[in-house]
Amino acid sequence: MSDCIVVGGGVIGMMSARMLAISGAKVTLIDQRECGHESSWAGGGIISPLYPWHYDDLTNDLSFESQAVYEELCDDLHRSSGIDPQYQKSGLLMMDEFDSTEAKMWMERYKVDYQRHADGAFFSHVASVRNPRLLQALKIDIINKGVKIVENTQVNQLITKDDKVLGIHSSEGDLLCDNVIICAGAWSSQLLNLSDRIFPMKGQMIIFKQGKVKLSHVILDQGRYIIPRIDGKILVGSTMEDVGFNRDVDEHIKNNLHEFAWQHIPMLENVEIEKHWSGFRPASETEKVIVDRDKNYRNLFINTGHFRNGINMAPASANRITQLINE
Ligand SMILES: Cc1cc2nc3c(=O)[nH]c(=O)nc-3n(C[C@H](O)[C@H](O)[C@H](O)COP(=O)(O)OP(=O)(O)OC[C@H]3O[C@@H](n4cnc5c(N)ncnc54)[C@H](O)[C@@H]3O)c2cc1C
Repeated sequence: MSDCIVVGGGVIGMMSARMLAISGAKVTLIDQRECGHESSWAGGGIISPLYPWHYDDLTNDLSFESQAVYEELCDDLHRSSGIDPQYQKSGLLMMDEFDSTEAKMWMERYKVDYQRHADGAFFSHVASVRNPRLLQALKIDIINKGVKIVENTQVNQLITKDDKVLGIHSSEGDLLCDNVIICAGAWSSQLLNLSDRIFPMKGQMIIFKQGKVKLSHVILDQGRYIIPRIDGKILVGSTMEDVGFNRDVDEHIKNNLHEFAWQHIPMLENVEIEKHWSGFRPASETEKVIVDRDKNYRNLFINTGHFRNGINMAPASANRITQLINE
């Protein structure tokens, strides 16, 4: 049984820890805060890339693989944890880009169908989850599966010898292991000198208080989206801001997101906003996700750079990294 340390308890770290535990590994997961409170908590929870033709083959492959298992995974997590991640296959109405040449080529290649609506194209296969609930369920589930979670502990450095990692130095002391898996999201380049640098791309979101507005599907237009939750609340996102680790939220962006919402659903103009927040997507300079063995250390693995699609890609990324470790 191999000893694995997973650094980072977002959706990528927890999903990786889950798959490793299922494969028989002894797993310790370390987070500098509490698990599931960073990007994975902040996101919209759409289980699809927004405009999939913008992304590389790996992102598309991991997305399709994940989409195929998400509903069953959420059922398993619900059973194991008692918390329902609220998977809903509501579909997505895309109002722009769907008739571009790139989009048409992608749909033909992946055999994806849509229904033409007056306002755009409806992709009925697209689902969403309520990410805070997904993360709570995941955390309980991995504890049930024997993963040891260490929170409020920062991993500062790797302990290395020749082409091997021996363990980690953390704020609470050193820990030795057979394999280290870096899932530190937007912070990954603070730990590793990656050739494809990972950096934070801030996104701001709002959620409306429960009102009378009924929305049955996700709406996507000009890179922004409106997402219905099962309890009737509605989320709107999001910005793309390359401003480092600055968590501040701006009043004008809040108003801007609100305006986007009521331009698409006029009844939202007078609905009160319940919360406004930001999160740091793990972006990479090449815009590619990294799910790989490290080039310098043979027992170091990297699962990061999921950018706008980490909730979506998490199950398949976790599967792939587990396969690499067990090769
Ligand atoms: C506004 C917004 C909307 C989004 N919408 C969607 C969407 O609809 N669909 C979708 O699929 N994706 C969406 N995303 C993207 C998605 O949220 C991310 O790709 C995903 O959460 C990345 O997961 P992660 O586990 O890598 O990162 P995180 O969730 O950020 O987790 C990284 C963890 O590592 C920990 N950590 C970092 N450094 C250290 C260290 N040195 N030691 C210990 N712990 C450390 C952090 O504390 C953190 O908990 C959105 C993101 C944002 C911000």
